[in-house]
Amino acid sequence: MKYCTRCLLPSTKPDLSFDSEGVCSACNAFENRNMVDWESRSKDFRTIMGRYARKDGSNWDCIIPVSGGKDSTYQVVKILELGYKPLCVTATTCDLSVIGRRNIENIKNLGVDYVEFSPNPVVRKKLNNIGLRTVGDISWPEHVGIFTIPVRAAVQFQVPLIIWGENSQNEYGGPAAAQDSPVLNRRWLEEFGGLLGLRVTDLPDSFGISTVDLLPYTYPSDEELARVRVTGIFLGHYFPWDGLSNYLISQAHGFESLGSAIEGSMVDYENVDNYQAGIHDYFKYLKFGFGRTTDLVSTHIRRGRLTRSEGIKIVQSRDGMYPSSYLKKPLSEILRHIEMDVSEFNDICDQFTNKEIFETNSKGVLIKEDDGRPRKRISLNV
Ligand SMILES: [Zn+2]
Repeated sequence: MKYCTRCLLPSTKPDLSFDSEGVCSACNAFENRNMVDWESRSKDFRTIMGRYARKDGSNWDCIIPVSGGKDSTYQVVKILELGYKPLCVTATTCDLSVIGRRNIENIKNLGVDYVEFSPNPVVRKKLNNIGLRTVGDISWPEHVGIFTIPVRAAVQFQVPLIIWGENSQNEYGGPAAAQDSPVLNRRWLEEFGGLLGLRVTDLPDSFGISTVDLLPYTYPSDEELARVRVTGIFLGHYFPWDGLSNYLISQAHGFESLGSAIEGSMVDYENVDNYQAGIHDYFKYLKFGFGRTTDLVSTHIRRGRLTRSEGIKIVQSRDGMYPSSYLKKPLSEILRHIEMDVSEFNDICDQFTNKEIFETNSKGVLIKEDDGRPRKRISLNV
């Protein structure tokens, strides 16, 4: 395990690569953004909107998938400022927080039509449970649903253009910008919806969940996608994207933050909508040896808002915190929602802890810190 020489991302992060000077691909991609002609990108955006917007008012101009978080609040503000009429679609989070609900209501009051789709909560709890046990991701149904449900809405309401937020994987504008194949296809969907090897189609046979109960997690057919010519773009490709400025803009438009730093994080404005997010982030730490704080600190180091050594101190004190509470809700209550107790949870944690990253004793048992998290073999003193 090694760390980027510029930010704090480790080599264990999936899909991250390093150049000969030990600088990670995320830092290099950020450097390349300085070369981007944003004026011309913004014109490209207008051109694409010109193709899809309904000037006669006969339908919405686009769909914006919104969680109610700072980024989606910013997306809505931006699209409204540019003069378009979006239909906002929310696939509700697995365990919506009180503050998350208020932020959803806030988005509606920005002045948009809004569809909130709530998958069957009984099925969803089962899927949270299965996701945590089989792939170490409590948020598996949420991560599938945030991709499938807006696409289903696009077909249902016959609004072809979906405007996603940031494209963290690829430097391209989305299928709507492509000359050759502007229609969103299944391969594109599967690439961006992180399924972690647990496929929706495996669930009926392996876990006895019926196909009809999985409709919210299933993409429309290729025929339906082609009929409506569903396509998508990433707003972050056309306008500079920065989490902090998205937050500041959102806050100016009524978005609420927690008021104190969130457990396992360094800020109070990110991931405030789902009580299960702390468990999700903790499992990322157990699997890959870095958590939410490392990601956040790294974006600030890249932008010159923190030095690397300041960042290391913050990571050491906040990253990978055992999720004994999240958004001030105790772990036992969060787990009760998915019918699991803390001791069973701890067993699952150990099962997904990467023993190449975390220390074990001579019997192969993980060594834990006082707060319950496992002890790292190599700490960040680089
Ligand atoms: Zn880096």
